[in-house]
Amino acid sequence: MENFDWKNLPFGYVKTNYNVRCYFRNDKWGELEVSSSEKIDIHMAATCLHYGQEAFEGMKAYMGKDGKIRLFRWQENAKRMQRSADGIFMARVPEDLFKEAIVKTVLLNKEFIPPHGTGAALYIRPLLFGSGAQIGVKPAKEYMFIVFVTPVGPYFKEGFNPVKIAIVKDSDRAAPLGTGHIKVGGNYAASLYGVTKAVKAGYGSPMYLDAKEKRYIDEIGAANFFGIKNNTYITPKSSSILPSITNKSIMAIAEDMGFKVEQRPVSIDELDTFEEVGACGTAAIIAPIGEIYDMDTGKKYNYCKNGKPGPVSTAIYNRLQEIQFGDEPDKFNWIEIIG
Ligand SMILES: *Cc1c(COP(=O)(O)O)cnc(C)c1O
Repeated sequence: MENFDWKNLPFGYVKTNYNVRCYFRNDKWGELEVSSSEKIDIHMAATCLHYGQEAFEGMKAYMGKDGKIRLFRWQENAKRMQRSADGIFMARVPEDLFKEAIVKTVLLNKEFIPPHGTGAALYIRPLLFGSGAQIGVKPAKEYMFIVFVTPVGPYFKEGFNPVKIAIVKDSDRAAPLGTGHIKVGGNYAASLYGVTKAVKAGYGSPMYLDAKEKRYIDEIGAANFFGIKNNTYITPKSSSILPSITNKSIMAIAEDMGFKVEQRPVSIDELDTFEEVGACGTAAIIAPIGEIYDMDTGKKYNYCKNGKPGPVSTAIYNRLQEIQFGDEPDKFNWIEIIG
């Protein structure tokens, strides 16, 4: 698409030409269908609408300097969507169907893949939901799997710059034995209170603590948290955290760069001791954190005192982006070229 303003692309929805759909009926998946409609026609008693029987994924296709289209660790997203399906009793999307659907959707919308060097990518959103009618609280018998794509710019329009986070303690996005570890819609509805509260107070995202003790760090909005000190990359471990594929990749990169990696409960009492802190996920890759504000105690933790992201976060961010865009050899075997 010539004349498209790729550099000022927001992180939002832009209509593309096609999406793909597949139905699970009579205990089996049907054929993939290509659609050019943005609308779906579902029963008003579908379980996704009443009981939140819905899961999604988020991933990106990257355009390399060589003009080749790259997917990043798609198998991890396929597996996570299966875990999400298991967690709320939906039909699993088989890995080969998942792959066929994402590859088809990306290739059908090739012209929407942002050019190399713009920092933008094609966001891929697979959705799985109960489409069958049910009035009692029980799993649907029919499911719908949709994949659509939309070109996205950097998550933060300010670019790779420190963000401000507020600790929200009067609401939880997930419970210790709830559904925080899977990517299901209900978690995000539950997170909107914290998001709105943080944003109203002038902060970018909320920090959620563990629901039981309100002492250990769970997540930053819809991103994982990490801290760096003494040559160690530390990221929280908790049953209510969504295992981020970005974080998993960063841990491998950090180790490769000679850092020690620890995945363990991280108390907010430790916040004072970190040299760098950040949030990570597919959307922003890494968001360096400049300030964490405890809304209840008024305490502020400050990082990036020169206004710039820390050197370790910057190095990891650059290395991961270079792998994703194909600017550096794919040492970890994370990339699949699809066209
Ligand atoms: C999607 C998501 C993440 C990030 O996961 P990635 O696989 O890195 O994109 C982190 N936390 C939550 C709650 C999420 O929904």
